[in-house]
Amino acid sequence: MAEPEVDAAGGLPALRYVLDKARGTGHPLEVLARVRSGNTCKTCALGMGGDLGGMVNEVGHFPEVCKKSVQAQAGDMAPPIPEEFFARTDISDLERLTSREAERLGRLAFPIAIGPGDRTFRRISWSVALQAAGDALKSTTPDRSFFYLSGRSSNEAAFLTQLVARAFGTNNVHNCSYYCHNASSVALAQVYGSGTSSVDLTDLSRTDLAVVIGANPASNHPRLITQLIRLRERGGRVIVINPLSELGLRRFRLPSDARSLVAGSTVSDLYVQPRVGGDVHLLTAVLKRLIELDGLDHDFIQRHTRNWDAALDHVRRTPWEDLLTGCGLTRSDIDRCADLIAGAESGILMWAMGLTHHAHGTDNILALANLALARGWLGRPGAGLLPIRGHSNVQGVGSMGVSPLLKKEFTTRLEHLYGIDPRKPPGQDTYASMTAAHAGDIDACVLLGGNLWGSNPDSGWATQALRQIPFSLSITTKLNPGHFRGRGQAAIIVPALTRDEEAEPTTQESMFNYVRFSCGGTPMVAGEMRSEVDIIAGLAERILPPDRFEWSALRSHEALRRAISQVVPGYQDIHRPGLRRSQRREFSVAGRVQHSPEFPTRDGRAQFHAVSLPDVTADPDQLILMTVRSEGQFNTVVYDDEDLYRGNTARDVVMISAADAQRWGVVEGDRVLVSSSCGSMSASVAITGISVGSAAMYYPEANVLVPQVLDPQSHTPAFKSVPVRLTRA
Ligand code: SF4
Repeated sequence: MAEPEVDAAGGLPALRYVLDKARGTGHPLEVLARVRSGNTCKTCALGMGGDLGGMVNEVGHFPEVCKKSVQAQAGDMAPPIPEEFFARTDISDLERLTSREAERLGRLAFPIAIGPGDRTFRRISWSVALQAAGDALKSTTPDRSFFYLSGRSSNEAAFLTQLVARAFGTNNVHNCSYYCHNASSVALAQVYGSGTSSVDLTDLSRTDLAVVIGANPASNHPRLITQLIRLRERGGRVIVINPLSELGLRRFRLPSDARSLVAGSTVSDLYVQPRVGGDVHLLTAVLKRLIELDGLDHDFIQRHTRNWDAALDHVRRTPWEDLLTGCGLTRSDIDRCADLIAGAESGILMWAMGLTHHAHGTDNILALANLALARGWLGRPGAGLLPIRGHSNVQGVGSMGVSPLLKKEFTTRLEHLYGIDPRKPPGQDTYASMTAAHAGDIDACVLLGGNLWGSNPDSGWATQALRQIPFSLSITTKLNPGHFRGRGQAAIIVPALTRDEEAEPTTQESMFNYVRFSCGGTPMVAGEMRSEVDIIAGLAERILPPDRFEWSALRSHEALRRAISQVVPGYQDIHRPGLRRSQRREFSVAGRVQHSPEFPTRDGRAQFHAVSLPDVTADPDQLILMTVRSEGQFNTVVYDDEDLYRGNTARDVVMISAADAQRWGVVEGDRVLVSSSCGSMSASVAITGISVGSAAMYYPEANVLVPQVLDPQSHTPAFKSVPVRLTRA
C-alpha cells in the first residue's frame, strides 16, 4: 500500500522544502524579500499579499505563506535559458520534455520562433515577433482566430486583451476557467444570480461548520487548512467529502503555530468517501435526511427562495436505495453528515474541481446549493457557498470580460466607450475553439500564459487541433510542454514579466471577490521580458487602425484601471483618483458578497433546483477514474514528481483501493495498462485509501485517457468521470 512517509501534512518537511527551494535559487534572502513584497501571491486564489505586503491575508493576518507560493517564486528566479540551448535542441527533444523538465529549463528571456519544417527554435527580435503576429491575425478573418488567457494575468492585461480582441472583430476570447470552474459559475448564476463566491474571508472565521467537498486544499490551497483548523479550535466542525483519503485533510501541522507544528492538528471531524461521480446522489441523500429530521430553515425557504416545492417533491420521490447505490455510502454515513449539518447554526459549503469535472458538474453544484438554501445558509454572515478557485487571478480574468459572452451592462459600456458592436453573436468558449481548430477553422491564436494543450481532454486530439493552427503567439514567463506539443505550424513565444517584476502596479481578484494591488518591482533575471500589457498593446497597434484607440491609454495601467472602473460591473473602486498613497487601494467587488438575503436575481430570491440523478453505473469490469493534482504540482505545472502526502514517488501510477486490487489480482507496484474509450496509458498500481470502484491518476499526464465528454450546461470537460479498465501490462 502506498504510504506517505509523514504522519501529517505541512510541518517541518514543508519548512525544509521551503528552505531548500529558496537555497536552490542561490539567493535565499531575495526569495524571502520577493515573497514578502507587496504583490499578490502568484499561486492560488486565496489571496495573500498585496497592499499590506506579502504573506498577509485579506484581513491583515501575518504570516500567511505556504510551499506553493515559494515553489512559484523560486521557479521565476531561475536563470534565463541560453540562446545556444534553442540552437542545439531539436524540436523532437523539446516535444518529449515532461512538465517538470520544461519547468526546470529556466526563464524565457527573449522572443523565439519556429516555422513549419524547422528543427529548432531561433531567437528573434520583439519587432519581428509582434509584426509576424500582427500579420498572421490581419491575414485572416477575425472569427478564425481566438484569444486564450490563464489566470496568471493581471486584471489590466486581461481587460486590454478582451478589448483588443473585440475591437479586432472576434468574441472568441476565453480563459482557463472554462476547463475548471465554469460549472460553478453557471450553477451559481442559476442559484443566486452571481457566478462567484457568496462569502468573504471574514465569513470563514464566523461560521460553525465547513463542508469541503471535491477539493484538496491541503495540497492546492494550503492556507485554507489554517482556516479549517481555527474553525475546529473555536468549537466548529469540518466535514470532508472526497473519494480519496487525503492525509492533509485529516491531519496537518501548521508551520506558523508552534503547538500545531509539534503535535499536529486534526482537520476534519467527519471524512466521507463516496465513489467518484456519486455527489448528486450523496447531496440529495443528505437533503432527504435533513427533511426527515426537519433540519430546515422554513422561514428562509419561504421568504427568500423559490422552487422549493419542486425540489422537495423530487427528493421525497427518490428512493433511498438509488441514492445509496449511486454514492456507494451507507445510511449511517449520510446520517452522520446530516446530523452535523442540522446541528450547526451556520455553514460554508466549499468545493473545487472534484465537483465541476463531471458530465453533471453543474448539477453537482446545484445539488450542493440546495443544502445551503434548505439550511438558510445564504445571505447572512458566516454562511454561504465558496468555489475554491485555482490560479491567483482566474476570477479577475473572468470579471474583466475574458469570456465569449458578456453581461448586457458590460457590452453596453464597451459600446459606449469604445464603439464595440454589441450585436455580434457570442464567440467560442475554450472547447469550441479547440473543436474549430481541429476542424481547420482557426488560422491564428494568442495564448496569454497557461498551458492550453495540457489543459485539454484527449491529449492526442488536442495535439492535432493546436498543431494545425497556422500561427500561434504564446506569451509566457517560463516554458511548458504546451509550447512545444501544442504550438501552431508557425509559432512565436515571447517572454513576459511576472507581476512582481512589473514597472507599474497591477491588480488581481481573489476567490473572495477581493481585489488586491500588486506594487510590481524589478526583473529577477536579465532579459528582454516585457509587461503583458505592453505586449498586448504592441500587438493591438499592428492589428487595429491607428485612430482606433488612444494608444497611450492602452499602455498605462492606471488608465486601464480608469477604463475598468467605467466598464466592469462592481469594479468602480479600482480607480479612485483622490486616494492618498498611504490609503489602502484594495476593495471588495461590489454586489458579490451576500450578507443579507437579497439576491441579484430578478425577484431577489435564490432558487432551488430539482436535480435529476445522473447515471453513474459502470460496467462491473470498469473503474471510474478521476484525474488529480499532486502535492508537487500547481495546475499543469509539475515542480516535483514525488507526491509526498500520497506516498507516490512517480507520476505514472494508478491509485486504486485494496478491494479493487484484489478483484483485478494485482499488487502494489504491478505494471498495468489503463484503458478508456479514448486512449491507454501504462501505470504502476498504487494501493490507496480510495473508495471502491474508483481510481485516480495524475493530471495532465492522464489526459490521454479523458474523452471529450462535457457537462452540457457549462461545457466543462469530465476530467473526473472516466470509465477505465485495467489489464496487466
Ligand atoms: S494558500 Fe494560496 S495564496 Fe496563500 S500563500 Fe499559499 S499559494 Fe499563496
